[in-house]
Amino acid sequence: MTASTGEFRREAAVAVADAHLQAALETATGRFRTAREIVLAELPDADRLRDHLKAVRAATIANLAGYLEQFEQNATAAGAHVHWARDAAEASAIVTRLARERGVTLAAKSKSMATEEIHLNDALLAAGVTPVETDLGEWILQLAGEPPYHIIAPAIHKTRDQVAALFVQETGAPLPDDNIPTLTATARRELRQRFLDAGMGISGGNIAVAETGSIVLVTNEGNGRMVTSLPPVHVAVIGIEKVAPTWNDAAAWLALLARSATGQPLSIYTTVITGPARAGDPDGPEEVHVILLDNGRSRLLDTAYEEILQCIRCGACLNICPVYREAGGHAYASPYSGPIGAVITPLLFGVENYPALPHASTLCGACQDVCPVRIDLPRMLLELRAEEVRHGLASTTESLLEKGAAFVLAHERLLRLGRGALALGQKPLVRNGQIRLPAALNPARERDLPSFAPRSFHQLWEELQDE
Ligand code: SF4
Repeated sequence: MTASTGEFRREAAVAVADAHLQAALETATGRFRTAREIVLAELPDADRLRDHLKAVRAATIANLAGYLEQFEQNATAAGAHVHWARDAAEASAIVTRLARERGVTLAAKSKSMATEEIHLNDALLAAGVTPVETDLGEWILQLAGEPPYHIIAPAIHKTRDQVAALFVQETGAPLPDDNIPTLTATARRELRQRFLDAGMGISGGNIAVAETGSIVLVTNEGNGRMVTSLPPVHVAVIGIEKVAPTWNDAAAWLALLARSATGQPLSIYTTVITGPARAGDPDGPEEVHVILLDNGRSRLLDTAYEEILQCIRCGACLNICPVYREAGGHAYASPYSGPIGAVITPLLFGVENYPALPHASTLCGACQDVCPVRIDLPRMLLELRAEEVRHGLASTTESLLEKGAAFVLAHERLLRLGRGALALGQKPLVRNGQIRLPAALNPARERDLPSFAPRSFHQLWEELQDE
């Protein structure tokens, strides 16, 4: 997938023109935003907790290799198998090999952006294994043949009647109504047998705890527990940055994850998996495999982008972002959308393939304000834009405009002259302090541009000095 400027604009224009979709997006992200504010205000000192988690994440990433090795040692001691995958192909090959060796033909999956990132479903299908998404949102998207729209609420853009239509198509039977309980009951009925029939359960992992070799899964549906306990083999695909050294660190992570994501104090289910089932356990898999996925992450260590590895994938930056809320998730052409997607996608998959994304931001800074680990996303967006210019990826028009602006700004007399000329030239177009351009010439489309002030800052400053 790619997101050129044209592709991003086309997808965004489709989203903007869809009134239903805009309403669904605003309702859902608005609910998340309000709930987040309420639960954070209930904490005795949310800011201190955020600073603490940031310090923990920064220190962990600074010694990532050591903590990953500790995780491997302890997970292995607990009976799990740990695999290292350099890239998407290696990770998919490990999963399909495990499936083939065990004669698996059906795999039940819980929501995982890491498996979306490596296109695991395509690899499974090619290997003769049918993947079934069991998270309600992911199942809806699997039926619709669409990628996720949001990192924590993948089907955030789907309306009730669209979901009902997909379910009727899948089950071949009419539904009594399209109420939410009817829809969830239909999904439950359809999916239950798949959990029982699946030879493999596949999940992601929110946290890998180094001190015990455990994986923590945070979900709001019971499907995560069924995927990781009913099939005889459980495979978890986890990005290498998701490690927490200790349970104390994981506790700080969990205290902020659901609060920042959905505004819940904790998600409904927090599942901890430490190795396979032991003798006497009532359920649990016979085998647990953890795939530690690099796929470009280690390349970011010791660079200007290392901070992005602190991300805990809460999605708060998507919910606040004015660009995401209008353009929608599909414009980003990546499982990671919104501000985090605009940074991590070009970094993992190549800025040359996603040149539009560093520009999918107003740089208002709201993403950094809400980020539980205060990641400086605006700084990295600017770094990526500079990288595009350095690598000659910016469009000719943009390069010419930027070079022209740089030249004028570097020559004060030219700047004054140009400003004076523009102040004069704008006169026939100014109405009530706004420049009214014909629609075809207006870069801001529906909005009018503010007119140039009658006197520039330079002039005002000089006048002040003279007083
Ligand atoms: S960048 Fe921050 S706000 Fe955005 S998903 Fe990551 S942790 Fe959450």
